[in-house]
Amino acid sequence: MGIEILQTTALPINAALQRDYTVHALWQTADKAALLKDIAPRIRGMVTSGGVGADRALIEALPKLEIISSFGVGYDPIDIDCAKERKVIVTNTPDVLTDDVADVAMALMLAMMRRIPQGDAFVRQGRWLKDKLPLTDKLGGKVMGVVGLGRIGQAIARRAEPFGVEIRYFGPRKKADIAWQYYGDLVAMARDVDILMIACPGGKETEQLVNAAVIDALGSKGYIVNIARGSVVEEPAMVDALVNGRLAGAGLDVFANEPQVPEALLKLDNVALAPHVGSATHATRAAMGQLVLDNLAAHFAGKPVLTRVV
Ligand code: NAP
Repeated sequence: MGIEILQTTALPINAALQRDYTVHALWQTADKAALLKDIAPRIRGMVTSGGVGADRALIEALPKLEIISSFGVGYDPIDIDCAKERKVIVTNTPDVLTDDVADVAMALMLAMMRRIPQGDAFVRQGRWLKDKLPLTDKLGGKVMGVVGLGRIGQAIARRAEPFGVEIRYFGPRKKADIAWQYYGDLVAMARDVDILMIACPGGKETEQLVNAAVIDALGSKGYIVNIARGSVVEEPAMVDALVNGRLAGAGLDVFANEPQVPEALLKLDNVALAPHVGSATHATRAAMGQLVLDNLAAHFAGKPVLTRVV
């Protein structure tokens, strides 16, 4: 049978996985409990994604599980505590997606501030023939506060600087090698910046970190861009502020309950919305898939994995 692995979701590496392993496709199985009961004693690896993850019940159902190889850098839906307890290795796919996600952050910021989607609709609908679009806001000269200055946050900041944007950041600790102004208090940073760029991990620690108080501090001329996770923002408070003019705009790639998007957002002109496509290019998805395969191959060859989370 070869090495048996459980795959929780469809991925662009399905064919390669099936070539190298005996794959059990959990997402294609109607009776998941019956499948697990049958295969659990033989499963040594799991392939999942940063969207689907692996909860405690699933990890604990697999007594021989050695490795969870996840597609994506965010691992918030994987029960890391449980993996540690069970001594299961968890890997993700960092770095290879950083540039693409930073590109989408810049695109959403510019699209939202300069009303690019609205201009596109304006041209397509023939409204240009008899009307003009209202003026928009200038990006150059704005101050951007990055929430979570990690790989992606820094890549966004490096892109934004040549646009004339001043960078500041908030995170759990000041970074020794970074000259940009650090804040240990998110409300204080929100008060001082024009754009809040959210690039921290999701999960319990950052749940609703950008809450009503932070949004109020950002104020009616402030913008939010979120390419991190929908869970990081108190979504109803953000939507309420956008609807009632207490926030100038938002560029959003992620939402609290994807793929559900609050109805009120769909009607607003001051937002640019994307369906969680930060890493969604052919090249990057291929590189992420390769890293998932390489981590599995290294582990089952008795070598250290390449990108270990725990
Ligand atoms: P990373 O290098 O680990 O960076 C995360 C940063 O967040 C670090 O600087 C970390 O600070 C900071 N951080 C940790 N806890 C925080 C908290 N409680 N408050 C504020 N900041 C906190 O990860 P990355 O590769 O940049 O990815 C960041 C996130 O982007 C991922 O976790 C994922 O959720 C999201 N993402 C989204 C997409 C998309 O398609 N939209 C694609 C990829 C990733 P320290 O350095 O001090 O620990």
